[in-house]
Amino acid sequence: MARNPRRKGRDGWKQSKSRGKPSFVTCECCGGKVPRHKAIPATQGFRITDPVVRQAVDDRYVHTFSRKVYYCPKCARFLGIRKPKRR
Ligand SMILES: [Zn+2]
Repeated sequence: MARNPRRKGRDGWKQSKSRGKPSFVTCECCGGKVPRHKAIPATQGFRITDPVVRQAVDDRYVHTFSRKVYYCPKCARFLGIRKPKRR
């Protein structure tokens, strides 16, 4: 894009939020780019299934194994991930 985002144009381009630029995230499933506000966040990565090990390992340590991924609405529905309801 050659357009300067600081310059306010009148051809339909507008910022979705007051600050920052529209951030896109990559869908983990299909690899497509999704606007972040439309993407469904999910945690993917290391899972400890053994409760004994889970108690022994510090939560912060476990947290390093998990990473946050995003899915587009289509894939989220396909995978059975539901968007958390906001109240
Ligand atoms: Zn997808």
